[in-house]
Amino acid sequence: MRLSRYFLPVLKETPADAQIVSHRYMLRAGMIRQQSAGIYSWLPLGFKVLRKIENIVHEEQQRVGHIPMLMPTLQSADLWRQSGRYDAYGPEMLRIKDRHDREMLYGPTNEEMITEIVANYVTSYKALPLTLYHIQWKFRDEVRPRFGVMRGREFLMKDGYNFDLTKEDALHAYNRHLVSYLRTYERMGLQAIPMRADSGPIGGDYTHEFLVLADTGESEVFYDSAITDLTFGDREVDPNDKAQCQAVLEEFTSRYARTDETHDEAVFNEIPEERRRSARGIEVGQIFYFGTEYSEKMGAYVQTAEGEKAPLHMGSHGIGVSRLLGAIIEASHDDKGIIWPEGVTPFHVGIVNLKQGDDEADAACQSLYDAFTALGLEPLYDDRDERAGGKFATMDLIGLPWRITVGPRGLKNGVVELTSRRTGESEELSPEEAVKRVAAIYAAL
Ligand code: ATP
Ligand code: MG
Repeated sequence: MRLSRYFLPVLKETPADAQIVSHRYMLRAGMIRQQSAGIYSWLPLGFKVLRKIENIVHEEQQRVGHIPMLMPTLQSADLWRQSGRYDAYGPEMLRIKDRHDREMLYGPTNEEMITEIVANYVTSYKALPLTLYHIQWKFRDEVRPRFGVMRGREFLMKDGYNFDLTKEDALHAYNRHLVSYLRTYERMGLQAIPMRADSGPIGGDYTHEFLVLADTGESEVFYDSAITDLTFGDREVDPNDKAQCQAVLEEFTSRYARTDETHDEAVFNEIPEERRRSARGIEVGQIFYFGTEYSEKMGAYVQTAEGEKAPLHMGSHGIGVSRLLGAIIEASHDDKGIIWPEGVTPFHVGIVNLKQGDDEADAACQSLYDAFTALGLEPLYDDRDERAGGKFATMDLIGLPWRITVGPRGLKNGVVELTSRRTGESEELSPEEAVKRVAAIYAAL
């Protein structure tokens, strides 16, 4: 993409109403525009990152055998009356009437709808196990929408639902989700720690929230610092192997890590003092096993091998896709702007032409551009007729992890400059070598 032809409405001023750094940078980098409280347009740069995050979520869900689909945003009130949640949900639910006075709502989640679908089509244990998911917009009329996309009213969520014959199978689905979530967040350059959370009115021990540590997080958390040494890395886990998934869960949940709702001071105090941490965190996902409650209410039963009728064991599992943009920026930025992890960056590399209109510089930039494009990478070429300082400031703000600077002086010596956004370190290389270097970084992801 040539910057002169792109739509990147960068703001010079810091927006006054944005309280946290991710919100400020998303506005300043021209990624989002607020349309009303907690509701945003995704401008091209923001939309590109949103799509990258979505793609990682899709890939990791499908890697473990979960099946994508799409349910509507608008749902009928009657569906929610069946589960008893229409009244229970309260003012967070946006209720709408159509022209025939039929009561509708903008879905805050999809347990009822998916269970109704499965109840209608799945009749035998032979169709199980089954995990269906979608990535769809949700609406929750939050009391205090704030912090940009972190607490929106309209937000994008991946929500997945497992249907199993037995509790044991459903707990395997729970463990499998934990495994896939660990990989998902790491691909986005994030450390998201599974923490024991509150299961609410349904009860039970089977829920974990995934938290990214950040001072601006809305959750209060307590953990053993040893947990931050754990990474999922590139381990191979067979998603169908119960013992393997269970082992990963045990490894990642055996250390103390809890949200304030489940925090137990006495247990916490058993951890050596130097490892005890209390901090803030951003909830980027949650997994939940809740048994047969929805299945019974929505009539999701199957015939077992013995010919008996059994309600399905279910769980639901969510990832805050749009919130993740804010979480990633909170975890990765400096005072000049965003620093995108390679896995989610909107463009792979920035090309800055120090002397637009100089034949040699223009030609060198164009050939870098063509070389990256031929390799399947997306460069953003700042071809505007602007001062170098302004171009660098824009590149730093929008946070592309790699920048190549091209100018007549370097070209005389046959070199361009390759700069890492994260470390700020630069190196002079031939244009061919610079392309190779950047391509190798992305090939290794
Ligand atoms: P919270 O406690 O932050 O209100 P929640 O526990 O009600 O969230 P879930 O129902 O678990 O949310 O939804 C799954 C994920 O969707 C959350 O982990 C979070 O990342 C994201 N999410 C929830 N509410 C919002 C919101 N208002 N704006 C953006 N993302 C959200
Ligand atoms: Mg939650």
